[in-house]
Amino acid sequence: MADCIFCKIAAGEIPAQVVYQDDAVIAFRDLSPKAPVHVLIVPRKHIQSVAHFTAEDSELAAHIFVDVVPKLAAELGVADGGFRLVMNTGKNGGQSVNHLHVHLLGGRKMTWPPG
Ligand code: AMP
Repeated sequence: MADCIFCKIAAGEIPAQVVYQDDAVIAFRDLSPKAPVHVLIVPRKHIQSVAHFTAEDSELAAHIFVDVVPKLAAELGVADGGFRLVMNTGKNGGQSVNHLHVHLLGGRKMTWPPG
């Protein structure tokens, strides 16, 4: 999608510290990390947010959570200690980039509730 920063990263038009990619997904380090490990898992397909997932995205959603998250958590060294997944959604959810992404944060003890 034109003017979408994550589409541009997925297309290789904007540089990013990529930690994983395949045909459906790209994952890269957050530019402004909020934890020692902070990566964003982004589908290549432009989907506005998790609220815009449809039945045709079921395989993609499963791929993200069943394949990519556990693989990255292990490779980034946070699988055993634990980690947090965040999907900010919409204005009140604090979403600033309107292309669905999963934050994977780890490497420190998280607090609750989030701000
Ligand atoms: P959210 O606020 O949940 O929409 O998260 C968007 C995230 O994208 C923020 O944590 C930003 O720091 C991050 N971000 C924005 N632009 C870039 C970029 N060019 N490369 C990496 N991360 C980015």
